[in-house]
Amino acid sequence: MARPPVVARTLPALRRALGDLRRRNASVALVPTMGALHDGHLSLVRLAKRRATKVVVSVFVNPTQFAPHEDFGSYPRTWKADASKLAAEGVDLIWNPDVKTMYPEGFATRIEVDGPAVAGLEDRFRPHFFGGVATVVGKLFLQVRPDVAIFGSKDFQQLRVVTRMAGDLDTGVKVIGAPTIRERDGLAMSSRNVYLTPEERQVAPTLYRAMKETAKQLRAGKSADASLSVGAKMITAAGFSLDYFEARHADTLAPIHSLKAGPIRLLVAAKLGKTRLIDNVAV
Ligand code: AMP
Repeated sequence: MARPPVVARTLPALRRALGDLRRRNASVALVPTMGALHDGHLSLVRLAKRRATKVVVSVFVNPTQFAPHEDFGSYPRTWKADASKLAAEGVDLIWNPDVKTMYPEGFATRIEVDGPAVAGLEDRFRPHFFGGVATVVGKLFLQVRPDVAIFGSKDFQQLRVVTRMAGDLDTGVKVIGAPTIRERDGLAMSSRNVYLTPEERQVAPTLYRAMKETAKQLRAGKSADASLSVGAKMITAAGFSLDYFEARHADTLAPIHSLKAGPIRLLVAAKLGKTRLIDNVAV
C-alpha cells in the first residue's frame, strides 16, 4: 500500500511538502476540487497519475465563486471520506487550506476573464462565477506550480476559461480536460446530486437523454434550432426549469447552427426543484 498522502493546511506546510515531492525532479499534476469527492473526481486523479509522477489534489470550497444567494454554506463537506478516497488512490499531497489562508484580511485582487468566460452560458446566470474560479485557480497554480492540471469536461465552459487563462498568463501549466463520468442511468456525477430528492433523482437523467436525442437529430441533418427545441421540450416536460440549452462551437463556444460549421458541443443548465444541474455532450 502506498504511503498516505501528506495533508498541508498552511502555505509553509505546502511549500515544505512540495519541496519534498520535487526532490527527484518529479513532475507534478494538480487536480483542483471542492471536495465531496465522487468517481468523477477520482477519474481526474487517475488521469493525473498517468500524466505526472506526483499528484497533488486541492480540496477547497472557494467562496469567491459563489454569489451570496448560492449554496456556499450548505455545499457538502465530507473531509474524512475525501481524505480516505484520495489515500486509496495513492495521491501524494492534499492541499486543504482554510478560507483565511486563501483570502487573508484585506485580500483585494481578482483575475478578470474574458473570451470564453463571457460566452453567454454560465456567465449569464452566475456573473460572479468565472472571476472567482479564475482567481482561485490562478492562486492554486502559483502556490503549487504544477506541470499539468486536470479539469473535467463536465464543466465545459470552465475548462475553456481555465485553459485560456493558463495560456494568457504564461503559467507554464498544461491544462488537460478529462471526460465526464456518469451514473449508470446517464446522470453526470456531481457533488450537488445529493441535493436531489428521490423523485428528482429519478427524473434527473432526462437531461442527458435529451442531449443525446438532440445530438442524434443534428447528426441526421436537422437544423440546430429544430433539434434543440425537441431536447428542450423533453427537459421542461420532465419538470426542469431551463436556464439554457445551446449548441456552441466546441472550441470557441461561439453559437453554431450546423455541423458543417465545425464541431458542436451541446451545453445545458437547468433547475430541478432547488437543485441546479449542468451538463454537456459532444455531437
Ligand atoms: P468540483 O469539485 O465540482 O469543483 O469539481 C472539481 C473538478 O472535477 C472539476 O474539474 C470538474 O469539472 C470535475 N468533475 C466534476 N464532476 C465530474 C464528472 N462527473 N466527471 C468528470 N469530472 C468531473
